[in-house]
Amino acid sequence: MTLTAIKSKTEAVNFVEVVLPVPLKRSFTYAVPQDVATRPELGQRVRVPFGKRRLIGFVTATHTEIPKDLDVDIKKLRPIIEFLDDEPLITPEILRLSEWTADYYASFWGETLKAALPAGMNSENVRPKRRKAVKLLDPALADHSKALTEQQSAILETLTDAGGEMLWIDLLDSANVGASPVNTLVKRRFLDVFVQDILRDPISAEKLPERPAFALTVHQDSALAAITDAIDESEFKAFLLHGVTGSGKTEVYFRAIRHSIAMGRSALMLVPEIALTPVFSRQLRSAFGTTVAILHSGLSQGERFDEWRRIRAGEARVAIGTRSAVFAPLENIGLIIVDEEHDASYRQRESPFYNARDVAVVRANFAGAVAVLGSATPAMESFHNAQNGKYTLLSMPERIGGRNLAAAELVDMREAFRRAGKDVALSAELLEAIGETASRGEQIIVLMNRRGFSQFVLCRTCGETIKCENCDITLTFHRRDGRLSCHYCGFGMPAPRVCPKCESEFLYFVGEGTENIADQLAKKFPALKIERIDRDSITRKGELEQKLRDFAEGRTDMLVGTQMIAKGHDFPNVTLVGVVGVDIGLGLPDLRSAERTFQMITQVAGRSGRGEKPGRVVIQTYHPDHYALKRSMAQDYEGFYGDELKFRENFRYPPFVALASIMVRHRDLSRAKSIANAIRRFLDAANPSKAVRIVGPASASIARLKNEYRMQLILRSESRRELRKVVDIALAEAEARGVEMRYVYVEIDPVSLM
Ligand code: ADP
Ligand code: ZN
Ligand code: ZN
Repeated sequence: MTLTAIKSKTEAVNFVEVVLPVPLKRSFTYAVPQDVATRPELGQRVRVPFGKRRLIGFVTATHTEIPKDLDVDIKKLRPIIEFLDDEPLITPEILRLSEWTADYYASFWGETLKAALPAGMNSENVRPKRRKAVKLLDPALADHSKALTEQQSAILETLTDAGGEMLWIDLLDSANVGASPVNTLVKRRFLDVFVQDILRDPISAEKLPERPAFALTVHQDSALAAITDAIDESEFKAFLLHGVTGSGKTEVYFRAIRHSIAMGRSALMLVPEIALTPVFSRQLRSAFGTTVAILHSGLSQGERFDEWRRIRAGEARVAIGTRSAVFAPLENIGLIIVDEEHDASYRQRESPFYNARDVAVVRANFAGAVAVLGSATPAMESFHNAQNGKYTLLSMPERIGGRNLAAAELVDMREAFRRAGKDVALSAELLEAIGETASRGEQIIVLMNRRGFSQFVLCRTCGETIKCENCDITLTFHRRDGRLSCHYCGFGMPAPRVCPKCESEFLYFVGEGTENIADQLAKKFPALKIERIDRDSITRKGELEQKLRDFAEGRTDMLVGTQMIAKGHDFPNVTLVGVVGVDIGLGLPDLRSAERTFQMITQVAGRSGRGEKPGRVVIQTYHPDHYALKRSMAQDYEGFYGDELKFRENFRYPPFVALASIMVRHRDLSRAKSIANAIRRFLDAANPSKAVRIVGPASASIARLKNEYRMQLILRSESRRELRKVVDIALAEAEARGVEMRYVYVEIDPVSLM
């Protein structure tokens, strides 16, 4: 406990500092009304007046008297309107961690705290009682006689993103709509309104699998021993657990968690978005009973709130969750695991742009805990840290039971094109492999990393492609609803019959997506039961789980899908994985395209041959000589690491430099440019020694997104401290000189530069 907190127990607290979810780097002082029963504590949520608005913020400091250096006029102080919690939802440790996070990622404390708590907890509406809620119904049964309005689409999208269910009030808030379009959607049977129950255990109704009792393999044993020894030391230590797919990392995690609990400490485990969570949380529940709490975006807000309270109250001592669970209010934490640590979903893609993997290591450091980052394909930075001694490397190079990793074959699509005399999406080799596999009664996964039917529509007469109204992005054709849609902003329109520009009828649909591939496969293999898994085909809560279960239990023969199917699942009867369209990722102009491609192929190849039978992987590509493909075929991580390191060195990318991106986003291009130019001048002024190399401003590779133009500056330095210093000084100066900082987005350690 900090000094201030101790003091607050004994002395009267007359004033508090509150951070608010506003883009300002400061806290605000408020008076504490003396006539209310609740006394302020650190981390408590309060409602306060802010200009003409009322905002919810967090208490970050308490005073008996106003410190002189704060320079505030007591007479002008406004009082707190209301305390929202009797007990703070977060701990002093989380306050400190969120402050560090805000600082490191050049964002704002109030905003970071808002992101730290599960969505919706910032609204006072989330309180433990019965509330009106809304859920999605099967869209096939809805009334489609009229097109959806923009607001109606926004409502459906918001609900889908929230896992299909939301509190009424939060839906209105998040989708930014009034009650009327929601009521219309209820009439049209898209939605149902219900009263949410108080009991919200997300997995209580599921039957729990039995946990088998294994003898650990030699590699598991030594990895576990290193981790448990470190837990016993009660000092910070970070491990990188590099274990090939199927090497039994999960078992090591579980036993390490058990050890931490046995030592009287708590444990946190982070997992990537969606795919892993339902499976893993059930396994965790069966291993740890009610002492485990789960936190992920698929839960309703009420469920998340209850789980959070169980953690805060110490009832749950193991927390498992996605990104923001890194801020779960566990006390006396002994172990933090980050599974699939390379996964891009640990990075928040909006402000504050934090990386939960890196925050996890810092949290472990603050708490004297052990951090374990696990992956079959560690991020370049993590492996580099293991090479230079920052992390201790633990290796599990063999699959359980000595099973071989699947043999991979590349199919050169230039050859396939020559043979067929036309573009083909599915090569003869892959089709033949599918036929053979199916005839043996074994299962198949086909990965296609793009959803929709056709990537874009091209007019053969005028050469025009049909683009989004709001983005510099071509629209994707979805055949099921006959619409073109933007995968970035959700804009949609009915697919036109003639070119909107020249009215030519010769429209050409280019580039396959999952819908198309699944279709072609269904035609070629009418006897097989094929399911598609992507964001379009998964619309209801529980649907993904159901499809995965059908596949695991053999009711489906083949899964076709995006990377939602690539990770984590364990299907022993899958002996063939086909990778179609790998060139899409490889061709992206981004620093991590090769790394992502390597990771994706290795992960998906790891789905093949996990049972007794040997597995095969068939990868179609126009770039058979690319090192990312060759190395992933050989499942040669270290070979890839060496190749990629050379690329990173040549292009001055991490881990050789610290990187930052500053993006200016504005609806008006000239304003975007002038703000970006101003930022550049402040950066130059803060960087007289030129220790930081600055490129730009230039149009970002997606030059316009969601109706905003994007001007980007890229900063590099051998010295991270120098880079952070220059960014801080320049931004503070820019803010002081009136540059409109709300259009400026700073990313420290960006995972992507697009
Ligand atoms: P990873 O996460 O490294 O890809 P998993 O943890 O999914 O690997 O383990 C692969 C499979 O091996 C799982 O079905 C798991 O239950 C099983 N398994 C793990 N450890 C052992 C062991 N020591 N003996 C037998 N089976 C094991
Ligand atoms: Zn045309
Ligand atoms: Zn768009």
